[in-house]
Amino acid sequence: MIRTRPNGSNNVAGNEHPLVELSHVEKHFGKLHVLKDINLKVGKGEVLVVVGPSGSGKSTMCRTINRLETIDSGTIRIDGQLLPQEGKDLANLRAEVGMVFQQFNLFANKTILENVTLAPVKVRHMDKKEANDLGMDLLARVGVELQANKMPSQLSGGQQQRVAIARALAMKPKIMLFDEPTSALDPEMVNEVLEVMINLASEGMTMICVTHEMGFARKAADNIVFMADGRILEKGTPDEFFDHPKTDRARDFLSKIL
Ligand code: ADP
Ligand code: MG
Repeated sequence: MIRTRPNGSNNVAGNEHPLVELSHVEKHFGKLHVLKDINLKVGKGEVLVVVGPSGSGKSTMCRTINRLETIDSGTIRIDGQLLPQEGKDLANLRAEVGMVFQQFNLFANKTILENVTLAPVKVRHMDKKEANDLGMDLLARVGVELQANKMPSQLSGGQQQRVAIARALAMKPKIMLFDEPTSALDPEMVNEVLEVMINLASEGMTMICVTHEMGFARKAADNIVFMADGRILEKGTPDEFFDHPKTDRARDFLSKIL
């Protein structure tokens, strides 16, 4: 059973700073201008869904937030702190941001449990027993605890993606980024992954999700951002965006996808 979440209940209150803040972010790949004056605030507990046509810069924007991509100018703050350029500070701040990709990228030669415990032990210096307990808790939370000692190749795509979510959660991130987490899955496995995401949202996790799953967006998002050609063209609640898109680009996009 999918739990719904009261929309908009957890938005940034009063003077509290946003958990993620992008300000005038610009990014080129060579001559290609991929992010154009991106301004975005995501409050604590907010679920932001990012939609837009292929090539509009959605993945690049996500990747700048945990510094998998550098930016040309502008600023990115995580929980009020400027994203450092490099070194230990960057590693620490990056650990605050969990990321789940289209391709689950589990370590093929590690068990499911090891996939989840590796980073807490190596990066957070958690002791093995504590990491195993945490790992089993997280695997239970995403419904794959019975697979703990199997290898990734023995699991279905949906199960592997749920493990990837557990692995990201093991670092106790403040924010979770999802970049089309269900796009590589067989259709019958999409819902089991979306359900995990909806539960996470209802538990108050701050999330940025790039997805084409409009049912999920309606149900789970506090806000929707529509990107096209490297720009944010619209930001609004799901009702505003789906029922009253303001731009022709968004109307055109929605007519193709809905
Ligand atoms: P989206 O996720 O919305 O489909 P992307 O952020 O992946 O868009 O890509 C935005 C644009 O940047 C596209 O034109 C893409 O081809 C280009 N691009 C993405 N990554 C790279 C890269 N590493 N080098 C060069 N161009 C890239
Ligand atoms: Mg993408």
